[in-house]
Amino acid sequence: MIERHEGRQQIVCDTCPASFAHTYADADFRIMIDDAKAKGWRISQAKTEANPRDTSDLFGKAPTVAGKAKVQPYTHKCPACCAKPQQQGRLT
Ligand SMILES: [Zn+2]
Repeated sequence: MIERHEGRQQIVCDTCPASFAHTYADADFRIMIDDAKAKGWRISQAKTEANPRDTSDLFGKAPTVAGKAKVQPYTHKCPACCAKPQQQGRLT
């Protein structure tokens, strides 16, 4: 996810509390993504099959729905989580 505070933004892992070491201004969003990827983070577009009529291509962001949690169209994974197998809730 992307956390914002005081005009800065920071990438935080979706599946653990890890966060990317640096914060960036809103205008530097693309740079932040590129830097994080270079450090082994995986940022990828989430599948939005539930919403085939997504208007993000037209308006640049997903429509907000009142009363519902805003869906983030991207998933963010830190290098440690990328290295883990995709099994959850199972101990081997
Ligand atoms: Zn993680």
